[in-house]
Amino acid sequence: MSVRSVDPRTGKLVMEIASSTQHDVADALCRAKAAQQGWASRSKNERMEIIRGAEEVFTKERDMVVDIIQSEIGLPKRGSLGAYNSALRGFTHYPEVYAKMGSKDIWLDQKSWAETGARIDFVPHGVIGHIGIWNYPFWQTMITAIPALLCGNAIVFKPSEYTTLTGMRIAELWHKAGIPDDVFITLPGGSEVGKEMVRSDFDALVFTGGLSTGQDIISHAGVKPLILELSGNDPAIVCADADVEQAARGVANGTFSHGGQVCIRIKRVYVVESIADRFIQRLVDIAGRLNVTEQVGPLIRPEARDKVHSQVANAVANGAELLCGGVQIEGPGYYYSPTVLKVSRGVDIRFEQEIFGPVCSIIVVRDEEEALRKANDSIYGLGATVWTRDAAQGQMLAARLDAGTVWINECGRTLNCGDYFQGWKSSGIASSTDRLGMFLKKKAVIHNRSCEPREHWMK
Ligand code: NAD
Repeated sequence: MSVRSVDPRTGKLVMEIASSTQHDVADALCRAKAAQQGWASRSKNERMEIIRGAEEVFTKERDMVVDIIQSEIGLPKRGSLGAYNSALRGFTHYPEVYAKMGSKDIWLDQKSWAETGARIDFVPHGVIGHIGIWNYPFWQTMITAIPALLCGNAIVFKPSEYTTLTGMRIAELWHKAGIPDDVFITLPGGSEVGKEMVRSDFDALVFTGGLSTGQDIISHAGVKPLILELSGNDPAIVCADADVEQAARGVANGTFSHGGQVCIRIKRVYVVESIADRFIQRLVDIAGRLNVTEQVGPLIRPEARDKVHSQVANAVANGAELLCGGVQIEGPGYYYSPTVLKVSRGVDIRFEQEIFGPVCSIIVVRDEEEALRKANDSIYGLGATVWTRDAAQGQMLAARLDAGTVWINECGRTLNCGDYFQGWKSSGIASSTDRLGMFLKKKAVIHNRSCEPREHWMK
């Protein structure tokens, strides 16, 4: 078995390499287990120094890695560079937060806990099996790698089968920066290698990808910590008072960038009817002007494009109006035209399935309350956006939206290198509120300093 990287801008083969075997997974896990202990036993300062120093290595090689990313996923240069630079911020952000973290003393009532103290220590999981995604192969890898390594974990990383070369370069650069070879190991391979990792004795698993794959992982992983970052179906609410220009450009950006292959892409737009015509007109105008190769980018594979096309056809068959796009663009590469679908009041279509492509589904609603109800009527809860000129209304809707991130008059940008980024409902499982905490487990140490037996103990 092998994995192949194909340039989706041209359809040309970039690289083919043999997949890892069952034995490779076991061997990597064994080596990482041995190496992790040495890594975790280094001082906190030493690990922080190495992580901080890695920024220089990754910055120096930025152009080379960005070229590889572009050749494997076709993301236009501006988007590739933006995601790369955003990941680089993790090299300063996470050490800064980690430096302030430490054990926590717990107050105990000395009447019942005479001479006893308690402390919570935070320790790394051990070896993390990381099953990666292709859509932002550098950013998505680094938002786990930086904090997880900093905390003293080792990582066995399987990049997506579409972005093996990026994954291999990331490992090389970590090693160049001083991370020991067996503390970050890359295993090329597809779903079979992922499945083998899920069955193996990792101390924790990190997975980013589709909901159905996540469900498969949950059923086969046994009892181990799972950090799952899954599908989304993000709503946007365009309020009656929204600035049409801001909302239309923001929604276009949040919908069509990277061919719409973004987990936090705006996928359902609920626009209040009093503003709907003006908003839709401007959005369609923007969609029609976009330079698809320069600003949107291709879909990852022909099958992905076929799936998007059939989802659009299905929506139209069920009563949605195709306002623009809906075309598989001919020629080299797997491009799809920016598409706007409109669902008028009275037509009953629920966009339950995530469309992973440059498709904007607009649903006209009576008011913000109807928009909110419909936005929350979803199994997903990754992100949501609100477009309004009224700050209080924006905050009120943000408070009532069921999503891990809500943007008001903003879209698609996460906090420092993915910190606090996590989905609600079926969009993910995370074991902590912030990102460093995901890669640490807690240990309560309860210490009775007296060496006398307690009165009530058995004799
Ligand atoms: P996918 O789920 O098919 O594959 C992702 C990874 O899992 C790949 O490395 C693949 O080899 C591996 N894999 C596949 N089947 C497996 C199995 N049964 N067991 C173990 N590993 C397996 O990815 P996809 O569906 O192409 O990705 C797109 C989805 O990812 C979208 O739904 C998108 O919303 C979601 N996504 C979510 C986030 C987030 O942070 N929440 C980020 C990016 C993408």
